Amino acid sequence: MPPTPLIINLAPTGMVPTKADTPHVPTCAAEVAEDVAACRELGVAIVHLHARDGDGRPSHRADDVAPLVAAVRDVDPELIVCVTCSGRLVSSVDDRAEALELDGALRPEMASLTLGSNNFASAPSINPPDVIRELASRMRERGIKPELEAFEPGMVAFGRRLVDEGLLDEPCYVNVLLGNLGTAPLQPHALAFRAEIPDRWTWALAGLGRFQLDASALAIALGGHVRIGLEDNIWFDRARTVPATNAALVRRIHELAELLERPVATPAQARAQLGLVTDRR
Ligand code: ZN
Repeated sequence: MPPTPLIINLAPTGMVPTKADTPHVPTCAAEVAEDVAACRELGVAIVHLHARDGDGRPSHRADDVAPLVAAVRDVDPELIVCVTCSGRLVSSVDDRAEALELDGALRPEMASLTLGSNNFASAPSINPPDVIRELASRMRERGIKPELEAFEPGMVAFGRRLVDEGLLDEPCYVNVLLGNLGTAPLQPHALAFRAEIPDRWTWALAGLGRFQLDASALAIALGGHVRIGLEDNIWFDRARTVPATNAALVRRIHELAELLERPVATPAQARAQLGLVTDRR
């Protein structure tokens, strides 16, 4: 059987990196569009978006997300747009879900849904079960597919529970994030995750910081998929001497995929794998 085409999910911005941390992080719509255009040439299927306000601070406002969605679709209407519903900045469901209400040409096809609470290096990410259920329910009503995010194997188990409860439609797409200080490290035993994920789901690995490269290599070798980008890692090299750019990170994934004989998925191939019904062409 030929290898499954590799779905590359690009997370170009995130909430944390500032221009002071790295001049390469794209924060406004024009900068995001420029990075997405460069990465699209190399083959990216999903773009995971975080908005910033006019001062470069993270924003959950639909008014700030809308120009990003429009800019990505201007680059290529086939790209799968995923918006964040992170609770790291705001806690109410209505605030977190604002971008889900974007309509028409601005409606996102996917949105992030973290399956539990955890700590990051200096702040918590709080996701109570009722909030996760409410966000899942709103995504389902809007026909938006969750990008499930799991920092621990138990979070995957919670995702399976949501399937049983009718709040998630299979096949699910789950991103396993490894290497965060305070949750699952990137160690061989971390691959115990795999046993928790039903075979019919699509899974990806996202390594945080210096673990990004190893997580990508593992995922490509094991038949999974990857999420990369400056959201999760701002350095290109292990010694943290070379600032990464989104395009350089994507280019390296292509080199790895080629070495490991994995073709890279087009957005249309990714849609078919993920069971997304929208064909935007
Ligand atoms: Zn994110």
